[in-house]
Amino acid sequence: MVLCDVYGSRFPGTKGDLQSVKWMVKRLKKYGIKNAHYESYTIPGWKRGKATLRVTNPIKKDFDVIALPHSIGAEIEAKLVFLGDGAVDDYEKRKEEIEGNIVLVTSRKPLGMQRLLHRTEKYVRSVLAGAKGWIFMNHYPAYGPPTGGISPIIPAVGISYEAGSFLVRLLKRRDDVTIKLKTAGRNLEIESYNVICDIPGTTDDKEFVVAGSHYDGHDISQGAVDPASGAVTVMEIARNLWKVRKQLKRRVRLICFGAEETGLYGSYNYVAMHPDEMKDIRFMLNLDSGGRKGKKGITFHDFPELVPYLEKWATEMNTDMPSDQRVTPYSDHWPFFLKGVPCGSGGDPEDRRTRTGRGYGHTMFDTVDKVEPEHLRLAAANYTRFVFRVANADDWQPRRKTPKEIQAFIEEQGYDKTVTLAERVKDYVRTWDEIHPDTQAWLARKSDW
Ligand SMILES: [Zn+2]
Repeated sequence: MVLCDVYGSRFPGTKGDLQSVKWMVKRLKKYGIKNAHYESYTIPGWKRGKATLRVTNPIKKDFDVIALPHSIGAEIEAKLVFLGDGAVDDYEKRKEEIEGNIVLVTSRKPLGMQRLLHRTEKYVRSVLAGAKGWIFMNHYPAYGPPTGGISPIIPAVGISYEAGSFLVRLLKRRDDVTIKLKTAGRNLEIESYNVICDIPGTTDDKEFVVAGSHYDGHDISQGAVDPASGAVTVMEIARNLWKVRKQLKRRVRLICFGAEETGLYGSYNYVAMHPDEMKDIRFMLNLDSGGRKGKKGITFHDFPELVPYLEKWATEMNTDMPSDQRVTPYSDHWPFFLKGVPCGSGGDPEDRRTRTGRGYGHTMFDTVDKVEPEHLRLAAANYTRFVFRVANADDWQPRRKTPKEIQAFIEEQGYDKTVTLAERVKDYVRTWDEIHPDTQAWLARKSDW
């Protein structure tokens, strides 16, 4: 509650970011964990400015929109093109329509798509097809406009399901709909943080376990379920394990990462700042939104050999911890996964399979009242006991992936396409006559992947 109601979104670069970090450190020290501290790093940040959308033809009408993080500040008037859910093939197919115009696309997963089609990919594919503006429409009614980071190339905004639907209906009646899009965001360098503490082990084994969650939310939101419910779960695990530290064989490191929402900056920076540790991490448990509704199981990131451990322990613990295998590159386990660290994410595998989107996640309605104490308690109980057992197991032997296997895995899942796309879009943008200063700074940076 304090995280959300006192410190607000904890969005990187806001006052509440550093203040919440100091609060978490203080709190962990109060639990007895004197080694609690934070590390800082510099990342590309973004400051929100006002965004407006006006239909200029065939009617005049204003709609509420919000700029997407890292959007450049710009003004553009052009024709509106609706791409539905934005299936992968549609961008090339409708290139002629898109060229020079403003794309409207929903946040829904396109029909028949196997892998996740992330917002950033829809955006990049629109840019590559020549879009000059981009509108991301919530596919859920009554949740307002969605947010989510993109690269600073063209002005990009989020719009509610209702306002977006109005535009879609207008396009059905008329094919000459033009709109004016104005954004005023600012890209700048900022500092963000990772909160770290250790529960020491009783043996001198070098291996240790990591459990973490990001603590930053989107600036328009309290970021309560995503991620505060996860950050609080991590702090609770720290508090619980500290109490049983005399029985803990190996060290457990708890981390609350900053700046996840804008590009996994906290976890990428952690991995970059601690390269020698990677080989000694037994397991990394990512608890992004860890206290959300649903069962408190684990989605292993392609480590099927770990299922028997979980099943055995869940029986011992007399609790329900379902599991499955799946990897997506969109949370803090990913930089660890890329380094070959065995990892998994807390959550309800059943829910992950059936969920079609974020719901109120990433909207202004992800507020503290959505977090149920009962789920926080269950998350803290299940994951504390799981992490404790991982740290204590003498027969824990996940197969570590080699860099070659990781590369092959990424290609097989189609995630390499996202990387190639990112390179392609940079090459494409470099051919433009006029490049926005924010875009130039982005081009000059080396890839985050
Ligand atoms: Zn999250």
